[in-house]
Amino acid sequence: MVHLIICAVSGTGKSTIARHLLDRYPRLRLSVSHTTRAPRAHEVDGVHYHFTSRVEFERLSADDAFAEWAEYAGNLYGTARSMIDGAARDGVDLLYDIDVVGAANLKRAYPDALTCFVLPPSWAEVERRLRARGTETEASIARRLAAGRRELEAARTFDYLVLNEQLDAAVAELDCIYRAAHLRTAERRATLERLAAQGG
Ligand code: 5GP
Repeated sequence: MVHLIICAVSGTGKSTIARHLLDRYPRLRLSVSHTTRAPRAHEVDGVHYHFTSRVEFERLSADDAFAEWAEYAGNLYGTARSMIDGAARDGVDLLYDIDVVGAANLKRAYPDALTCFVLPPSWAEVERRLRARGTETEASIARRLAAGRRELEAARTFDYLVLNEQLDAAVAELDCIYRAAHLRTAERRATLERLAAQGG
């Protein structure tokens, strides 16, 4: 099973890139996180996130229900173990759209996980995209930009850097990473063992 983690400075267009990859590969499933953030206008509970009260989130966390969780811009976000187990049972791969703290923790839990950081072309472009969303207040934009500067530092420790200057090129880069993941020895173990058992 491939665990593909993508992180980015908020406003880099990571969710759009993720959506394109998910549309291409039926075997790749989006990891749906829990969050205490209020839903945005277009967001659907259970599809974009499991929207959860802080009390419920903290209860789940105390029950060790999360493989990782983190606080981001004042809200809690977490990846449920049961969701990962479900994907493993269904034989599908997971794409995680999470923050850098979550990525580091998930990589500890699943060392084979691939960490990809999507780089924006410039800070001016990040600010423009955040504003264009129309869902963020000025305070939230400022918070996300400040968080973005810190997140970029974490990019140094990632396995891959994807440049999102042109959407198509960025999707192609992530596509390469995902396809190569299926060529890893761990993913091809069954083929290797079959050949080894044949003798010759
Ligand atoms: P947003 O509020 O814009 O949907 O997400 C804010 C940040 O939280 C993004 O960087 C997003 O990737 C991250 N995030 C979403 N789900 C999770 C999660 O389950 N765990 C962690 N650690 N971060 C998450």
